[in-house]
Amino acid sequence: MIPKKLPPLPPIRDLIRVYGLSANQRFSQNFILDKNVTDTIAQHAKISEKDDLVVEVGPGPGLLTRSILDAGARRVVVVEKDSRFLPPLQQLSEASDQRLGIIMGDMLQLNHFDILKAGLAIPSAPSQISSAIESMQDPAQNHREFTGMGMNDREATIRLLGNLPFGVASPLLIQWLKMMALRQGIFQNNNKVSMTLMFQKEVAEGIVAPPSHHQRSRLSVMAQALCDVKIAYKVSASVFVPKPKVDAAVVHFERKAEPLVSGSLEKLEDVARYYFNKRRKTMGHNTNRMARLAPEVKLILDEWITEGGWDMNMRTEDVSTEQFCALARKLDRAQLKIPLT
Ligand code: SAM
Repeated sequence: MIPKKLPPLPPIRDLIRVYGLSANQRFSQNFILDKNVTDTIAQHAKISEKDDLVVEVGPGPGLLTRSILDAGARRVVVVEKDSRFLPPLQQLSEASDQRLGIIMGDMLQLNHFDILKAGLAIPSAPSQISSAIESMQDPAQNHREFTGMGMNDREATIRLLGNLPFGVASPLLIQWLKMMALRQGIFQNNNKVSMTLMFQKEVAEGIVAPPSHHQRSRLSVMAQALCDVKIAYKVSASVFVPKPKVDAAVVHFERKAEPLVSGSLEKLEDVARYYFNKRRKTMGHNTNRMARLAPEVKLILDEWITEGGWDMNMRTEDVSTEQFCALARKLDRAQLKIPLT
């Protein structure tokens, strides 16, 4: 099947001028006006006509949306907070041969059910999306899916993209990772969800940092527990209008078929936060300190040390994601809270 393309459209610069859409500094808006750049992002996101649903967060005037549609996506839902962008997005929707749905709202607050509903409203919505919505309305069904009982026919391929303000991208990523761990919203069932998101370059490097990398952080551990991550594309600050102070990078996340944590991500977040708060100290120092601060955890920690859970001379940044996940699983099973200071 030949992927659908958009008809010729006015340059995005003209739309910005006609609709008076200058970037709003208060909302940290920085636009990409070079279609080669947005086409490259869409390529790294692996957009194709086979995808069940593409969700773009923060489309602004819509150049990346054009690239997504030009790559052949059949169902695209955009979520935009700033109502000034509604007219150009509506114009794009009309040109898209009914492939684009628009939600005006704040992604941090939005119920994912609304996204799936908007996807379903697009005429060629696939059966997987319909099933996903039906199952969200049926708690018994949901329960079966959460316990992973043979719902493979309900898997959908969903791609999430966003060039968001740097201050929004990280909280949104954490929210999505938590939902992914719990198989909620668009992450329900075993949906094959990939995320292709722009971050400030240092944050992107932290997300993908392997053990023993100086930028390794709590976010590296949380992201790598659930996803295979890589920096797909480095983007110079000069690509954006207006130009931000720092360079950026696009990170591509593929949901792991076998995540390293099951259920809530909370315990892993707590464990990683505790150890990364004291990243210069050895694991021995921090582990003994935790046992002193929370004596109820001592038994689990003694067991962990006896089993050789980690080398007590290592520092936090040297510890693997698997090791953090293994301790988090033990503490979770014992329903124990750890101190966060
Ligand atoms: N994607 C466009 C581009 O690449 O040119 C615009 C990028 S601009 C950095 C970020 C966009 O995200 C803006 O349009 C802004 O209004 C929108 N945005 C910011 N926070 C948002 C949120 N919480 N939910 C939805 N959209 C948001």
